[in-house]
Amino acid sequence: MKRVGIILSLVFFLISCQSHSERLFRKSEILMDTIVTITVVSDNEKKAEVAIDKAFRELKRLDRLFNAFSPQSEVSDINRKAGEKKVKTAEDTVRLIGYALKIGELTNGAFDITVGAVTGLYDFHNKVVPSMRQIREALRYVDFRRVVIEGDRVYLPEKGMRIDPGGIAKGYAADRAIEILKGEGIKGALVAVAGDIKGYGRKPDGSPWRVGIRDPRGDREDIFAVVELRDEMAISTSGDYERYFIKDGKRYHHIIDPNTGLPAEGLISVSIIGKEGTYTDSLATAVFIMGAEEGKKVAEELGYGVVMVDRKGNISTSESIRGLVKITKSLNRD
Ligand code: ADP
Ligand code: MG
Repeated sequence: MKRVGIILSLVFFLISCQSHSERLFRKSEILMDTIVTITVVSDNEKKAEVAIDKAFRELKRLDRLFNAFSPQSEVSDINRKAGEKKVKTAEDTVRLIGYALKIGELTNGAFDITVGAVTGLYDFHNKVVPSMRQIREALRYVDFRRVVIEGDRVYLPEKGMRIDPGGIAKGYAADRAIEILKGEGIKGALVAVAGDIKGYGRKPDGSPWRVGIRDPRGDREDIFAVVELRDEMAISTSGDYERYFIKDGKRYHHIIDPNTGLPAEGLISVSIIGKEGTYTDSLATAVFIMGAEEGKKVAEELGYGVVMVDRKGNISTSESIRGLVKITKSLNRD
């Protein structure tokens, strides 16, 4: 009798472990100047909803701190007070800028959060290209090594210096949203802040999350690769097709080489895959600027894998992530 009882409880345990009742719950909102989608695995709708809403609240809080287009944000306050005074900031702002400075060092200045003095000169909406003189002038204010962090205070030592968190804030936000979902007891989730995506756990059917990488010269839905995110993993893609315009036959896009003040040339799409969204986001931007050889080397040394596409359509993938990446289409156009 006792044995039967044990067997029965074992059977019950196995059944309750099966994910029949687990489903996906998903919600999208416009945030951080883009679409954010949160997907969670749960067997309880209410629990899923509470967790998703809490994650969105966190993202809104971060957006209020980091949004350089909003005069009320802490980043705008730091920029406004450049050359005047130190600004007391929230812990997340100090952390974000701290990470950015570290990535700046690791990428030899390819990632430079003070590139704002130059990025602010381009107007992608009205197709405005700054003059070489304007660019040269603005480059004087670009140097992440001059940013001062003292405890919870941040200071830009010269008027005209500007922080632009656009190359790292979305990945950082994805990391924080995932932390919130875990804290709410969610076993699996995928957070997509536009092209900065982080997941953990698995889908209800036990399969890993899959993320497509966009064909840099195709339509929005065209992809050339599918990446599996196993365990806890993030992927970020930087491309010259996200924000750009063509003027006099030349493509002007939003990833700026801090050495020249001009859009970086060579690669047209860079995806970085690895543990932290803060790193995948900023490294995607940096590798795009560093170029295939140096970029790949730096990312791999930090434990991150790369999928990159050059202007001829050649795709190159890091050895370490080949098992996760399936190329679904060739991009060579000749
Ligand atoms: P997206 O914003 O499309 O996700 P990225 O993550 O590549 O693309 O970030 C591009 C943004 O990063 C730019 O819009 C700008 O705000 C910022 N940025 C551009 N060049 C640099 C750079 N050299 N270093 C740091 N940030 C940069
Ligand atoms: Mg980026």
